[in-house]
Amino acid sequence: MILELKDLFDKAGNTGYQEYFAPGRVNLIGEHIDYNGGLVMPIAISHGIKAIFKGNSESLIQLKSTTHSNLTLFTAETIPEAYSSEIGWCNYPAGVIQRLQNDGLKLDGFNLFFDSNLPEGSGLSSSAAIEVLTAFSLITEYGGKIDLPEIAVLCQQVENEFIGVKCGIMDQFAVANCKKDHALLLNCNTLQHEHIPFELDDYALLVVNSKKPRSLIKSAYNERKAESDEAVRVLKSNGALAEGQYLVDATMEAVAGIGDDVIRRRARHVVSENLRVKHAANALRMGDLHTFGRLMTASHTSMKEDYEVTGLEMDTLAETAQNIDGCLGARMTGGGFGGCAIALVRKNAIQSFTDILSRRYEMVTGLQCEIYVSQACDGVRAM
Ligand code: ADP
Ligand code: MG
Repeated sequence: MILELKDLFDKAGNTGYQEYFAPGRVNLIGEHIDYNGGLVMPIAISHGIKAIFKGNSESLIQLKSTTHSNLTLFTAETIPEAYSSEIGWCNYPAGVIQRLQNDGLKLDGFNLFFDSNLPEGSGLSSSAAIEVLTAFSLITEYGGKIDLPEIAVLCQQVENEFIGVKCGIMDQFAVANCKKDHALLLNCNTLQHEHIPFELDDYALLVVNSKKPRSLIKSAYNERKAESDEAVRVLKSNGALAEGQYLVDATMEAVAGIGDDVIRRRARHVVSENLRVKHAANALRMGDLHTFGRLMTASHTSMKEDYEVTGLEMDTLAETAQNIDGCLGARMTGGGFGGCAIALVRKNAIQSFTDILSRRYEMVTGLQCEIYVSQACDGVRAM
């Protein structure tokens, strides 16, 4: 694919281009925690998006992607001020370009062409990847200051305000800041973060794309957020949480005292999941992958039984994986009801793991999953 893209560039007389890359991400543990004041732990994965940048002398902004058909031409003056359904995927880079210009970055004409092996709309954050890639390449090319946490915040704001998706900061922060062979322990409120060694030795991290469209996700997300807020209200009213504290700050004893069964289970997921992230970080620091795997599995059970965001497809993937020889743990990753699962699998068991899981998943759901082995990779970079 990327050869084709270079050909296209060469034929148009573009030599001396610069290449950039932004990875996708998976969250290892810490689900539905970002809006509850707690910790998440993503890695950047091997799959991602490449961009080729080349300035042009016609003052045109040309955007093209090999995964989409239209080539869109703008000038600095005609970059849309707001989301426009007519330009489809170009809203993502256009939103970033518009914001960079508003922030005072002086741009000339340029061609920015994208090529990707990152599935779109599967929960691996292709949207954050294309945003961060656009911001990083243009700031680099036009002599702005590269501050990766700032780039992440800028891109999250573009996704919230320009695209209109109310995502948290995790995706953009991971795509921008992750480090090779490390997981990123991130407090989504304070943006305090730490790179924790993620060294797998005889094991590998497998990403399993369920291919299930995530149709329920938006309504369920809003509902769970409201239920978490209700748990905070109850815990504040009985003095178990102080003003300014978050749901993750509650104790398990306080949570056990919540009267409403649904609200109690939602709170139990949030509080226990945040504790699991801390334990998981410790397990990685000590190189204890068995404990890490058990925490992944416990996280899935909690999302299934207490937070109720999994569904048949994700349960089939995670629970089948957990029972295959050589698998230390598996869980759904991302918001829920589809997207991807992850599993920690002994390297010499990957083939049999893949065969058993694919067969079983297709038998139960009629869907064919895709399985990728992924390393923990660096975030956005020039190539
Ligand atoms: P996710 O972030 O989970 O992959 P989203 O729905 O948030 O899913 O973002 C997917 C959208 O991002 C795509 O529909 C497309 O508009 C845009 N996008 C992602 N990758 C690319 C790419 N390589 N080229 C063009 N647009 C892309
Ligand atoms: Mg996205």
